[in-house]
Amino acid sequence: MLPIVGLTVGFISTLIGLTTSAMYDGHSMLRVTPQTKRQEDHLRDLGKHQGVSFIGGDPLVGDHSHVIASPQVLDFVLESLKKFETEHLLTNPDVGRSGLERMEGYISWDAYYDLDSINQYLTVQSVGHPDLVTLTTIGKSFEGRDLFLLKINNGSTTKPIIWIDSNIHAREWISSAVGLYLIDQLLNSPDIEIQAYLDDFNFHILPMANPDGFVFSHLTDRFWRKTRSNTSATAINGCRGVDRNRNFDAYWLENDGGSKDPCDLYFAGDAVFTELECIAIAQYLDSIRANLIAYISLHSWGQNVLIPTGRDSTQIPEYNEYIRIANLAAAAHQIPHSMIYTTGNPAPGTSMDWAYLNFPSAKIHLTYEFRDKGQYTVLLPADQILPQCEEFMAGIKVIFDELK
Ligand SMILES: [Zn+2]
Repeated sequence: MLPIVGLTVGFISTLIGLTTSAMYDGHSMLRVTPQTKRQEDHLRDLGKHQGVSFIGGDPLVGDHSHVIASPQVLDFVLESLKKFETEHLLTNPDVGRSGLERMEGYISWDAYYDLDSINQYLTVQSVGHPDLVTLTTIGKSFEGRDLFLLKINNGSTTKPIIWIDSNIHAREWISSAVGLYLIDQLLNSPDIEIQAYLDDFNFHILPMANPDGFVFSHLTDRFWRKTRSNTSATAINGCRGVDRNRNFDAYWLENDGGSKDPCDLYFAGDAVFTELECIAIAQYLDSIRANLIAYISLHSWGQNVLIPTGRDSTQIPEYNEYIRIANLAAAAHQIPHSMIYTTGNPAPGTSMDWAYLNFPSAKIHLTYEFRDKGQYTVLLPADQILPQCEEFMAGIKVIFDELK
């Protein structure tokens, strides 16, 4: 029997472990910033050493990259960076004990929760708001987990639909925390401004777009980004999974956006739409195309509001309108906690670009990159969840207002 919404009976939150698995005990995270091609090449070579890995993309001149170094190689890495005079900063001296905790139980905004808790929360909200909420599934993941979609509709089914998804990338836990917070606000906020959005729009929210990868990032590898599917390489070398946000049929693999290497974190797939989770989103969006007014995808990190497209820097015909709205949102996001958001374009192959190309009648297609700007990266401390949620609400309200 399910509890009454608002009560936490049976949902006492319990600490079930540290987020980072033992495989990262004693490992350090360094932010490195090559300023010359020589330094960039050196970093790429460094990444081939045992005990050294990059958690973001390959190093590029002028960009920050993030290196994880095992305790056995840390001195070597530091010496090596010094020798090449590469700018670097030790941002986390022990990734395996970074103080982040994973919880099970009733969702609150001061901890990261496991998949069962997230799904339980969605069920509780749907049971507690039978007049507003429909909880359904749009398909299954590679490992057979449901892709739960929570629909909020206060009466009319013909209203414009705002689609929001989160955790396309497994390790970006803050994104689904914000997705759940948005659901919570839409259903439970006393703010009449927020309540009024239900009169203007229907909301279709997919808080967990990559459940297999999310579970793997909880239990095995905190930095796991991809799905867990078999690829052309799995039988040969065991490498699994595809970067879900490089697998959509939108400028696939153009401009070095995504990797052809199945063992790479950014593997774009053996072809477009190899991933069941991508197909499920695409098919569902197609089924609601007549009413779709906005496609919004939540990610981290970087503090960006990204607009189409990832093909190149060519401006889309609607650029002025997109950038106007993105800038308005970015300014509003800054208000609650003075965090600066910037606008930009994504990599190729994203869900946003696919939605932009296939649903031109929707007014806006956006991708969010949440906190931070590179200190904690995907290991955003739990005490930043609520501030992140609050600043998201400040900006997303501006977007909702623009869509009216
Ligand atoms: Zn992402």
